[in-house]
Amino acid sequence: ESFGNPSSLYSYGQENKAALDRARETVAGAIGARTDEIIFTSGGTESDNTALAGVARANREKGNHIITTTVEHHAILETCASLAKSGFEITYVPVDDFGAVSPDDIKKAITPKTVLISVMHANNEVGSIQPIEEIGRIAKKAGVYLHTDAVQTVGHIPVNVDRMGVDLLSLSAHKLYGPKGVGILYVRRGIRLEPFMHGGAQEKGRRAGTENVAGIVGLAKAVELATAELESERQRITGLRDKLIKGLFDKIELIQLNGHPVKRLPNNVNVSVDYVEGESMLLNLDLEDICVSTGSACSSTSAEPSHVLRAMRIDPAKAHCSLRFTLGKWTTEAEVDRVLTVMPEVVNRLRAMSPLMKSAR
Ligand code: PLP
Repeated sequence: ESFGNPSSLYSYGQENKAALDRARETVAGAIGARTDEIIFTSGGTESDNTALAGVARANREKGNHIITTTVEHHAILETCASLAKSGFEITYVPVDDFGAVSPDDIKKAITPKTVLISVMHANNEVGSIQPIEEIGRIAKKAGVYLHTDAVQTVGHIPVNVDRMGVDLLSLSAHKLYGPKGVGILYVRRGIRLEPFMHGGAQEKGRRAGTENVAGIVGLAKAVELATAELESERQRITGLRDKLIKGLFDKIELIQLNGHPVKRLPNNVNVSVDYVEGESMLLNLDLEDICVSTGSACSSTSAEPSHVLRAMRIDPAKAHCSLRFTLGKWTTEAEVDRVLTVMPEVVNRLRAMSPLMKSAR
């Protein structure tokens, strides 16, 4: 009955603003930022696009060189490819066999024309955590901005923009149990950024368009819950992860862990099981209601091994035998035990049919 009443409409607008303010405070507090440094976006992809293209275009007179790595998400790699078409130079720093980038290699790639370094906090396929703090110190000393794609880490491991020494950071709500289609871009005070979305003056003119208030409130609630439970969940899930890895290694021969053995996300297990196609394991496990992905969830329609496994120089034959388990808030120890019973059976069954396995014996 309130729609005919102008004062109610006014208060509806005020409520929306108050909800946005509260959400901004929660998100800023969780990553050690100030509220005016938070821009609400439609998710990780938009935040990554805005960070790279926004900083590159606004700082064109300073230089045209961007440094990133070979294992970034496509949201970064494709943005770099697009910037390269409009005259920017991109250096893709390689990673080691564990998927980690060396801060020294980043340092060596810096030129007087470098305006931005973008290195993900942790990798979505193999879980390797990058040495962001060290890269942050290098970037600061060189006077170059540092962006990190923290889509996989916020709510899972500690994230603090000052401790990490980052100037821009991307976050996506759905990776921490929030709604899909909403995220943030953190932009340190004083950084010039050309908006990616043009139009109204929302988000202090840095991202036009009416804010997705319901999504943003959901994002803030998800951040609040994940932050409160971070330490206990991190320990619990790391315990399950290590139990799963150990169990798989005890029960299955000819198996390798992809990614870093220690510096890895609590929720990521990525293995290659020799002589068994990842796709065949996926289908067999799916019949047992066990959900996994192979290569990369994002490129599951392509037959090529993922760019991340290739960048880590994993033998293509082994890359095709890769499988990723993602643990989470609702994963129980009983489920891990069940995987450890079912998976060796699946592998034995498939290997019994594999001519490659027979010739290897
Ligand atoms: N960056 C990383 C590391 C991701 O894992 C993802 C999502 O899978 C994205 C960016 C893209 O985020 P969104 O799906 O919110 O656009």
